[in-house]
This record gives sequence, structure tokens and C-alpha cells, in this order.
Amino acid sequence: MSKDILNAKADFPLLKQTINDHPLVYLDNAATTQKPQVVIDALVDYYTHLNANIHRGNHSLAVQATEAYEGARRKVAGYINAEHNHEVIFTRGTTESVNLLAYTFGEKFVHSGDEVIVSQLEHHSNYVPWQQMCLRRGAAFRVLPFDENGELDLALFEHMLNEKTRLIAVNQVSNSLGTVNPVGEIIRLAHAHGIPVLVDAAQSVQHLPHDVQSLDADFYVFSGHKMYGPMGIGVFFGKEKWLEALPPFLSGGEMIDMVTPEKVTFNVLPFKFEAGTPNVAGAIGLGVAVDYLQQFDQHELQKYEEDLLGYGLSLLAEIPDLIIYGDPTHRSGILPFNVNGIQHYDMGVLLDTMGIAVRTGQHCTQPIMDALHISGTVRASLALYNDRADLEKLAYGVKRAIKILKR
Ligand code: PLP
Repeated sequence: MSKDILNAKADFPLLKQTINDHPLVYLDNAATTQKPQVVIDALVDYYTHLNANIHRGNHSLAVQATEAYEGARRKVAGYINAEHNHEVIFTRGTTESVNLLAYTFGEKFVHSGDEVIVSQLEHHSNYVPWQQMCLRRGAAFRVLPFDENGELDLALFEHMLNEKTRLIAVNQVSNSLGTVNPVGEIIRLAHAHGIPVLVDAAQSVQHLPHDVQSLDADFYVFSGHKMYGPMGIGVFFGKEKWLEALPPFLSGGEMIDMVTPEKVTFNVLPFKFEAGTPNVAGAIGLGVAVDYLQQFDQHELQKYEEDLLGYGLSLLAEIPDLIIYGDPTHRSGILPFNVNGIQHYDMGVLLDTMGIAVRTGQHCTQPIMDALHISGTVRASLALYNDRADLEKLAYGVKRAIKILKR
């Protein structure tokens, strides 16, 4: 039987505390989620009983630590339905994963006059690495704009594709507006032109279906800390054929096969992309987070989070002078808003005095804020442990803040 979502809050010890004398209402989940006790225990257990460097030792601890690390890789591969375990590369997070591809793909496949397309809805992490790579390679950096609803225009996207396009990089869910982008359709159109697609799944892998094979994603990247896992661990998934074709990113120990002064040959996948000592405890913790998430019925979880978002948006929409940004057909996890005449920063500070944690500012998406002609938003973002009471407290807190600030 699957686990009951309504009891999930009890699994997260941090959520039991008070902040500024109020029970914590944690609504900054797009920045990072809290960790269930099982993940915290896994980290303590690793350093208490198992710590050893992996892959190169033959003593018992080294063998067990290696097995636990590789076990975590298998769990992650299973979670995203990768065809091969070795298509899962552990990185520090989404940012490093995008940089891995921008450097390796750029070096091998992007030349002067080529083009790379990203969307205007990207986090800086899936924007700047491509912009910088294009500058290095003399390629054109093209940006697909979003419309008044905060959605991407597929007809325009198709129009932008041409024989010079080398790669598309797009997120599945915008961290600022919550727009669920039609990545399946984007992949289908790009593949019709033989162009690979990187999907930034940092805000989707924990909320939406996460099957890289049915999506047919060439590359799929995400961060452990946004899906109930530890910080400092993330995933770069690439289809085997691409990982074989790409040069290594970082070089050093572990990623080599033979080294002489004249020549080096590289290790097999996935080790070719994992130079140096990896974050073993982080990977193991991420594996436990995956186990935790998989205890829930995935459809039920998605439905629960969708209903919660709808409820939160309806509560906010009732507040006079409150503006909700974007009106996409599909939105996930994010409630972006401002109140006329009130700075987002001031709203965030006042909510914090009531124990409500939200984020304010640009959310690492300056191109979105520029397009909306605003300096930032207040962003409440959801996780599986949030409930209707959290959103009622948010709405109440916003109304109180308006009273105080407009007095
Ligand atoms: N992409 C998206 C859509 C994000 O929301 C974030 C973080 O907020 C990132 C990339 C960067 O993730 P990280 O800082 O974990 O590398």
C-alpha cells in the first residue's frame, strides 16, 4: 500500500520548529526542500559506519561504500527510467550538470555560425552556461520568448529551428512562474530536425512524471536538494550514444583508463564523467530520498500537489490589489505574486515575522523579470508536505502584511 501524503509532514523534523515564535510554514521549496528523517539518518549512518573512498579500495568498508554508491545510481536510474544505469552521472547539482554539457557539447559539436536555443523562462543556470559557450565558440545564442500567459509559443519555436541549430535547452517547469513547458512536444519537433534537447528538470522531477525514455530526452538534469535529498548532489542523465560521443568534462583520477606522458585513454561510462572523489554520502542520501518519494503513489502525489496549488492560487486571487504572474494552462508548484504598492522584499520580511518562509526577488531569472518589467516577485513554492492550512496561513499573512504596510 502506498504511503499517505497527509501524514508526510511528520517525517520532516525541521518542520516541527517555530520561527519568530510561530510554527514554521515552509513555502520556499523551489529553492530547497526539507529532508525527511530517513535521509538525515542515511547521512549520519554513512559517516558513522561506512565512510571509505570508493571504487579503488579492496577492504571491506571500501567495497561496501562502493556498493552503496552504485546502489544509489541504480535507484536514480530506476526513478527516471533510464535505459542504462551508466547513463546517470552524479554531479553537484543542476548547475554543474548544465555546465558539464555546455563545455563538452560545445567543444565537440558547436562551431562558429551555429546556433543554440534556450527559452526566456530559464533559470540563469540553464541560460548563462549556454550564452558563455556560444561566446566561446562564436555561435548565436537564441532565446525563445514567452507570451502574456507565461507560456512558450511552439509555432515560433518550430520557426526558429534550422540547419544551424545544434542544441535546445529548456526547463520542464519554470522556477519563477511555474509554467509547465511542453517539453515532449519540443523534443519531438527538435528531433524531427535531428537536434538534441537538454531538459532542466530541477523543478519537475519531484512533482511531475519523470520518465526519460517516454519523454525521449537526450539530456535530463536535476538537483538532489530540491527533491528531499542532500545538498551538493545532483544528476546529469545523458543517452548512452551521447555520453559515448562527448569528451570528458573534468579530468583527473577515476575518469582514466591508461595514463602515459604521451597519451591518456578514458574510463568507461559513467566513470568517464566522474573525475575525483565524488559526494558518496550525498549520492546515498539521494538514493534514500528516491526510496522515500517512491513510497507514495505517484499519480496521487501529483494530484495532491495540483489541488494544493489550485487552492493556494484561489486564496491569493481573492486578495485585493494582489497580482499573480502568468496564467499558463499548466502550472506546477509555484505561486508568484506581488501586491500593488508593496515591495516584494518588504512582504517577505513581514511574512517571516509570522513564521512564513517564502522567497522574494528575481529567483535567478532576470530575463523573466525584465520581460515583465518588474524587479521581482514574492514566490511561495510547494512540496508534498505542505497542506491547505499552510496556504491559509500564507493568505492570512499576506492580508496582515498589507494592513501593516499600507497603514
Ligand atoms: N534550474 C532551475 C529550474 C532551478 O529552479 C534551479 C534552482 O533553483 C536551478 C536550475 C539550479 O539548481 P542548483 O542551484 O541546485 O544547481
